[in-house]
Amino acid sequence: MILPIVAYGDPVLKKKAQEVDPLTPEIKKLAENMFETMYNASGVGLAAPQIGQSIRLFVVDGSPMADEDEPEFEFLQSFKKVFVNPTILEESGEEWPFTEGCLSIPDIREDVYRKPNLTIKYQDLEGQWYQEDYTGIAARIIQHEYDHIEGILFTDHLSGLKKRLLQGRLQNILKGRIRSEYRMKFAQLK
Ligand code: ZN
Repeated sequence: MILPIVAYGDPVLKKKAQEVDPLTPEIKKLAENMFETMYNASGVGLAAPQIGQSIRLFVVDGSPMADEDEPEFEFLQSFKKVFVNPTILEESGEEWPFTEGCLSIPDIREDVYRKPNLTIKYQDLEGQWYQEDYTGIAARIIQHEYDHIEGILFTDHLSGLKKRLLQGRLQNILKGRIRSEYRMKFAQLK
């Protein structure tokens, strides 16, 4: 089932999300619906707060970002996962810029600086724990989605000047004065 994506301005996007039991049928169904919702909106990641659920869960599929000329090609092709109750244990390396967008903030894309390497601990839908290292684009997708469950948006990483320049467009999103290719839920149209 395709769920409406919560747009910029909804308080759920600013809240730190709660731990969740991965094994319940509801959570498994939710993850399935989130993949469907993400694919429908042509995204590479979707976090539970973006569909209005303040829980620590996000889904990713990096295959649309797999560029044949990049060394990460093979890896991104198969980078499809559900992260439940994740904790980023460590981030390292020199911050690098990458142009990010967000399904909750349509039509705005900006360079965000983040560290290239991370170590993350998380559960799958069977409750199994993993600890893994990621780098490059995969790490970038994880960092963006992880921010969502911490109540942080990519626009929060921008400079004060850049944020002021975007204010008008962000207000338009909040009020639903935009067109998006997928179904959205707007803060002031509830
Ligand atoms: Zn996002």
